[in-house]
Amino acid sequence: MPRPFRPLSIAEAENQIATFRFTREIRFVDTHHTWRPNKAQYKGLATIEAISRFHTMPKEEGGNGWSDIGEHWTIGPEGAIWTGRDMNVQPCSATGFNAGALMYEMIGDFDGPEVPGRHDTLGGAQLDAAVAISAAVLARFKLPLAHVRFHRHLHAPGAPEPKTCPGTSVDYEAFKDLVAHTCQARWSYTPKGADLNVAAAFEAGDAGASHGGTGFA
Ligand SMILES: [Zn+2]
Repeated sequence: MPRPFRPLSIAEAENQIATFRFTREIRFVDTHHTWRPNKAQYKGLATIEAISRFHTMPKEEGGNGWSDIGEHWTIGPEGAIWTGRDMNVQPCSATGFNAGALMYEMIGDFDGPEVPGRHDTLGGAQLDAAVAISAAVLARFKLPLAHVRFHRHLHAPGAPEPKTCPGTSVDYEAFKDLVAHTCQARWSYTPKGADLNVAAAFEAGDAGASHGGTGFA
């Protein structure tokens, strides 16, 4: 979606995913947390614009040097689903894994037990929004449950697992259970369960930039 960034409700985001004219094959929906900014640092639109500036600033100036904000949506702690990159352009989710992916960031640091100002807890409207987006993507493209991916799964075959993203406190199996329930309740779609074959999804020629670096996980 073109700028300006604007906040969508769950119903609006679901409608966007259900009706958008996709010109590329979609096979995955990827989940990240920002780590920094954390929830306490979130200032609504100003934060989304700051993330976009960091992603698009030239590398020599300390940014990521990307063509646009890396993610298709950014989910605020209050559950706002901010628009981001055009859904027909692959995201900067993880090097080697960007083809076929839709991707969102959740504002927060979910890397440990809750400590206000340090570690956050994923829940409430923010969790609802993440689950709703994931379910809508699976239902639109009739994907199996394992095609909900966490960033921490996306490392090249043989490489060490470099990330905890979307945070050590976020349980993958519990998250997938919520997505499966929402697929059924909202879309009457029952996603097949299967293990994610990370090696099969990796494409060595993928030139996408790795996510993360100074400040954003
Ligand atoms: Zn990540």
